[in-house]
Amino acid sequence: MSDPDEGRAEPASALAGVPDEFQRLWTPHRMAYIQAGPEPLKHDCPFCAAPGKSDEEGLIVARGETAYVLLNLFPYNSGHLLVCPYRHFGTYDEATPEEVAEIGALTQVAMRVLRKVANCDGFNLGMNQGEVAGAGVAAHLHQHVVPRWATDANFFPIIAKTKALPQLLGEVRQSVADGWPVL
Ligand SMILES: [Zn+2]
Repeated sequence: MSDPDEGRAEPASALAGVPDEFQRLWTPHRMAYIQAGPEPLKHDCPFCAAPGKSDEEGLIVARGETAYVLLNLFPYNSGHLLVCPYRHFGTYDEATPEEVAEIGALTQVAMRVLRKVANCDGFNLGMNQGEVAGAGVAAHLHQHVVPRWATDANFFPIIAKTKALPQLLGEVRQSVADGWPVL
């Protein structure tokens, strides 16, 4: 005998749960990351692993000689890029002159591309050196390039403790990669 309720959505009031003050923004594109679990991040360096993947899989937008540019998996804003040396080291003073020059040059190109494809009004640039300074992956240097818009400081992060990210990472990667100049 078939269940007459099968396939029927239950009304929300019939489901168990505890309401709270948080908004829910459903972000199914992050499922792959969640399914991977925290272990890969703890034990493997994501910035060493990314260049071995395809551009799409590694969220890479450009590859240089000593450094490359990828999308941040945890963007503060749509188009949040990271400029990373290929070499695994933690702090800026360990970079070779070649790495310093290329990280700087890629940062400049990233700004121009974001201004063109994302029409941003400003940028936050920076490197967090060490875990105490807020580096998520402290062992591998990375420069943040965060595009800002006059309208992006909305009320979401303050009242809802959440960030609205209107574009999927794959789409953002594609538009930044398409806008990157061919050398
Ligand atoms: Zn690394």
